[in-house]
Amino acid sequence: MHKKLFIPGPVDVAPDVLEKMAMPMIGHRSKEASRIQRQISDYMRIVFNTKEEILLSTTSGSGLMEGAVRSCTAKRAAIFAVGAFGKRWYEMAVANNVPADMIESEWGQPTTPEMVDEALATGKYDLITVTQNETSTGVMNPMDEIAAVVRKYPDVVFCIDTVSSAAGTELKVDEWGVDICITSTQKAIGLPPGMSMCSFSKKAIERAKTVPHRGLYLDLLGLYEYIQKKDYQYPSTPSLSHMFALEYQLDKIINQEGLQNRFDRHIEGAEIVRAWARKHFEIFPNENYMSNTLTNIKNTRNIDIAALNKALGERGFQISNGYGKLKDKTFRIAHMAERTPEELKELLANIDEILGFED
Ligand SMILES: *Cc1c(COP(=O)(O)O)cnc(C)c1O
Repeated sequence: MHKKLFIPGPVDVAPDVLEKMAMPMIGHRSKEASRIQRQISDYMRIVFNTKEEILLSTTSGSGLMEGAVRSCTAKRAAIFAVGAFGKRWYEMAVANNVPADMIESEWGQPTTPEMVDEALATGKYDLITVTQNETSTGVMNPMDEIAAVVRKYPDVVFCIDTVSSAAGTELKVDEWGVDICITSTQKAIGLPPGMSMCSFSKKAIERAKTVPHRGLYLDLLGLYEYIQKKDYQYPSTPSLSHMFALEYQLDKIINQEGLQNRFDRHIEGAEIVRAWARKHFEIFPNENYMSNTLTNIKNTRNIDIAALNKALGERGFQISNGYGKLKDKTFRIAHMAERTPEELKELLANIDEILGFED
């Protein structure tokens, strides 16, 4: 039996979208391949709210995260971490011999504008990374406030991780002055895993030109220059199956459901889960910075989360345990991609039955 996924990626994919993954192959040097990739880029500009170029990569989101920090750090990177994925960005920098420091918040707390200001005021850094939506803790960072600080430092390349939030919550890439905004297919966008997308600003392009060893496959400047010359075709063979499904899904998101309706549906789902969590448990992150795409719930009753998930599995549902050091201390319910408020209510009613909660 397929378990309905309430985990923060991979998510369930709508059947009509999944079907597009099985379309017959086309040549990756064909006009149709150019058209699809150009169209996806146009759609992603709408999702990100940017006029800048879009790059596509046949890697999961981690690929573009590694590419960004390596391609665009000339001096030193300040990596702001509010959980496991921020930490991983720091590990990527170190593994690529990119000078970097990690500025960590306590898990459950955000990156604050003060932390960013303090780091950038040292003048040591020419690139920063911020996790807009941290999937391990359920924190959504205060981007308007952070962006206002970053704006004071025009030489800094500003990278953000929206892997678990793009198309699930509003992103204002140009307004925030973000140079590289990264996401991937298998979370709020609602596709199988295997592709990632990012914005790539003029500032990022100019910076990358000054960085000598950018690698090859994940050299963002290399990708940028190639697609300018080759009408949106990429140096190596991309996952065309993802391209077919992504073009179709982005059309559905933007032109059928509508982005604002989709954001509203995510918030409606979030509010249902938050209310339930407050009633029976506690919300893990600082409540001023809760994610719109997943809720991380503190296991205040010390329930056996693995046993709960097993019982849910027998009923056809799956949720997530806490991530890394939060395993068994928290559990996570995703309300992203195609999950509806009705489905979330159904999930919570089943948890109520399993745990014996009376209404
Ligand atoms: C899932 C996730 C990643 C990793 O992305 P992959 O597509 O699995 O490589 C990075 N950051 C965040 C916030 C995530 O949720």
